[in-house]
Amino acid sequence: MMRLPWFEFRAPKSLAEAARILAAEGPRAMLIAGGTDLLPNMKRRHQAPSTLVSLRHVEGLKKIANGKGTKDLTLGAGLTLNEIVADPAVRGKYAGLWQAAAQVATAHLRNMGTLGGNLCLDTRCNYYNQNYEWRKAIDFCMKKDGETCWVATASKRCVATSSTDTAPALIALGASVRLLSSQGEREVALADLYRNDGIDYLTRRPDEILTEVKLPAAAGWKSTYWKLRRRGAFDFPVLGVAAAVKTARDGTVEEARIALGAVASRPFLVAGAGEFLTGKKLSDEVIAEAGAKAAARAKPMDNTDLDIYWRKQVVAEFVGYALREIRGDDMSATRLRIARQTLAALAPA
Ligand SMILES: Cc1cc2nc3c(=O)[nH]c(=O)nc-3n(C[C@H](O)[C@H](O)[C@H](O)COP(=O)(O)OP(=O)(O)OC[C@H]3O[C@@H](n4cnc5c(N)ncnc54)[C@H](O)[C@@H]3O)c2cc1C
Ligand code: SF4
Repeated sequence: MMRLPWFEFRAPKSLAEAARILAAEGPRAMLIAGGTDLLPNMKRRHQAPSTLVSLRHVEGLKKIANGKGTKDLTLGAGLTLNEIVADPAVRGKYAGLWQAAAQVATAHLRNMGTLGGNLCLDTRCNYYNQNYEWRKAIDFCMKKDGETCWVATASKRCVATSSTDTAPALIALGASVRLLSSQGEREVALADLYRNDGIDYLTRRPDEILTEVKLPAAAGWKSTYWKLRRRGAFDFPVLGVAAAVKTARDGTVEEARIALGAVASRPFLVAGAGEFLTGKKLSDEVIAEAGAKAAARAKPMDNTDLDIYWRKQVVAEFVGYALREIRGDDMSATRLRIARQTLAALAPA
């Protein structure tokens, strides 16, 4: 049985108190929200903070608020994923976020796992998400306790994979996040919260708390999220495709964003996709070209499930599913087929 290392547990009631503790303790303290990522990681000795600062009882982290007159939406970082899934405004206006949140892990984990924790999720790798003894047997790796990256031995950078489902969905929706510390507050575009570095994957400072996520008004926009994973029942993504498109009445694209997850150490916006789609109608040809452009940007590494060459190719297919769904095609049979195929792949021969 894997045991947790010893740590001091702090349970502040306010953000100011939590920020004070983080400032005083420095990087040896870590925030804990639902603990569904951090506690297993601590058992495997990926992280060994001397102090855990719980956000569970901090007031104000569970708000769901519509902006006055602007129809934007603010979501507290402490909302559980199931609370996000149950919110009618999220389901009605931000379908991409709803689909992403609903596909994270299992219902039990979504009851504990929070939005903030999902956005700050540690990067993953087959050589890292193992117990201490397993990692010791390969002389560890650069991300924790070692020197070499076993995925790319010549690499100076860890290429562990970003595996958060909600981040690509929220990036496509144009979300920003608020970060609070004892030095003040700042707001950053969610896309800028991430670095393409498997170790230093967030631009958040260790003393900062992600307090809320702001979504711009959704009028005229449609969004969606498509997830590829081995097990349809629950699994981390090996590809996440999120798209958000604003169209005129005649179907001409006015604005668009496509974001990819699980094909780099950060979730990212596909550069040029919005410009390419703007002013066009979502014809089969336009969709195919947008898919090819997105696939060219994907850089999956051989450190998670399924073949990397196939994972790169399949990006175009998934972008196609996303844009066709936004166009209004009925994609329910395709969604069902993907869920069934992943389950069938696991069935005994
Ligand atoms: C079996 C299993 C399957 C899973 N499947 C998926 C999946 O399919 N998709 C997916 O995206 N995730 C998956 N997860 C990971 C995890 O359950 C979710 O990502 C969850 O949303 C994490 O939220 P949490 O509140 O539990 O985070 P925690 O474990 O509490 O924290 C995670 C990290 O975020 C930091 N953090 C938490 N809150 C804040 C905050 N407000 N401000 C700053 N930093 C913060 C913590 O310090 C820690 O580094 C899975 C986990 C398990 C065990
Ligand atoms: S990508 Fe390399 S350094 Fe990063 S966790 Fe995997 S093996 Fe370790």
